[in-house]
Amino acid sequence: MMMKKFFDLFRKNNNEAKKPDAGMQKLMQMVSMTEEQELTCDEVFALVDQFAELVQQGQDASGLMPMVQKHLDLCPDCREEYESLLAMMKAADK
Ligand SMILES: [Zn+2]
Repeated sequence: MMMKKFFDLFRKNNNEAKKPDAGMQKLMQMVSMTEEQELTCDEVFALVDQFAELVQQGQDASGLMPMVQKHLDLCPDCREEYESLLAMMKAADK
């Protein structure tokens, strides 16, 4: 008797959980927007040679690729990758 009531309640809650309310939808939208704005390390890794090339050419790399610049400011791993790339390019230029 008690168990059945519990399962009914559980099922009811489960059905409601399938329909996210407006607040939840807004939150999920915000999360997906944040994901769009911020690059992952893999994405930066794919772009960083292009970024370093722009810097090497004396172009406004941070203006042209602001998301990469932002990630490099925050992520020491990618920054290290970028700096060693830049050093390699400078060495090859001479
Ligand atoms: Zn990174």
